[in-house]
Amino acid sequence: MNAAPAATRKAAATRLRADFPLLARNVHGKPLIYFDSANTAQKPAQVIEAVDRFYREFNANVARAVHQLGAEATSAYEGVRDKLARFVNAGSREEIVLTSGTTQAINLVAWSHALPNLKAGDSILVTTMEHHANIVPWQLACERSGAQLKVAPIDERGELIVERFIEALTPDVKLAAVTHVSNVLGTINPIAELARATRKRGIPLLVDGSQAAPHFKVDVRALGCDFYALTGHKLFGPTGTGALWARKELLRAMPPMFGGGEMIREVRFSGTTFADPPHRFEAGTPNIAGFVGLGAALDYLEVAGHESVTQHEQALLAHLQDSLRAVPGLRIFGQAAHKVPVVSFLIEGAHAHDLATLLDHEGIALRSGHHCAHPLMQFYGVPATLRASLAFYNTHEEIEHFVAALAKVRRLLA
Ligand code: PLP
Repeated sequence: MNAAPAATRKAAATRLRADFPLLARNVHGKPLIYFDSANTAQKPAQVIEAVDRFYREFNANVARAVHQLGAEATSAYEGVRDKLARFVNAGSREEIVLTSGTTQAINLVAWSHALPNLKAGDSILVTTMEHHANIVPWQLACERSGAQLKVAPIDERGELIVERFIEALTPDVKLAAVTHVSNVLGTINPIAELARATRKRGIPLLVDGSQAAPHFKVDVRALGCDFYALTGHKLFGPTGTGALWARKELLRAMPPMFGGGEMIREVRFSGTTFADPPHRFEAGTPNIAGFVGLGAALDYLEVAGHESVTQHEQALLAHLQDSLRAVPGLRIFGQAAHKVPVVSFLIEGAHAHDLATLLDHEGIALRSGHHCAHPLMQFYGVPATLRASLAFYNTHEEIEHFVAALAKVRRLLA
């Protein structure tokens, strides 16, 4: 991939930023600097307008009504399945289950794929850097079945120790679940390499793609994994939307998790037969407006172009890390060779929450806390970190303001 000249990248990023109305607001009388996109991303006007248009022009329930509005709503909703299938390069649209987010997607795999096949003595393999959403569902499945959770370790730089992951793939392991990108460290895991190892041993691999898809092109077939979970609100779409991609044969073998309308073929009091995947897993009225918005977000990303987004973000990451490394007493957590623009850090003598509160008064939004990754905090021996998480709409000027504000608030705390 040839890198575009810096000036061209900057002009493209400025154009994209103008699509995000919220980024123009002030907070505490200062221009907002939004460095919390790993928590939830801001939405472009195209997404906001798509949701607005849905409610103004074709609000109706999906897959139920024969009237025109129902047909339009269904076509828009099902169209998002096609867009998601293209977005991750799925083999077919039937491999896309629409969910409320990654959390629901992983729970679906835990309950409908893992649990029916787990027994005492089996294991599920995760890594030290997982979000709670990719730990707790497996713990619940293990508790019910008598299986156990195994953990593949990371090193001090925040990189998965691949040999240890592969060594841990013993015959008792019935599924491995790994994040594509760490929400705390920004580390990009070598999923294709891990998938080659799990595939060789016949162990399904689930990938938590929450923090990957907003930053670079995801191709599930090239990755070679078996399940891939996405969340819409980090992908510049509405909250309460997301998807599970799974290989068709795996979905076919999975029983439904929720029962209700739209997931059945026929209901009798003597018993029910179920719809084929993916509808078998989509009981009840979904977040239709939200998915229409997610469809607009995917269109937006396609036009923005993943390559130019990735290049701009990598330039932001280098700038941010270099600036933070120059701050005395600042420790960065996560120095992996391959990262997205997510940087966790602490400053000697300053509490993360105090710094975040003072930075908020400078108009800067960033997260402090455990980031739903307690075991990772335990690994580093800290209760919390500050996390600056950027997206393509951020600028180099914002990084400079942020670093200057950091120096200012630190003096206040001294
Ligand atoms: N996995 C990772 C790596 C995350 O960062 C998050 C959200 O922060 C989740 C899972 C959960 O996503 P959601 O709450 O949208 O389901």
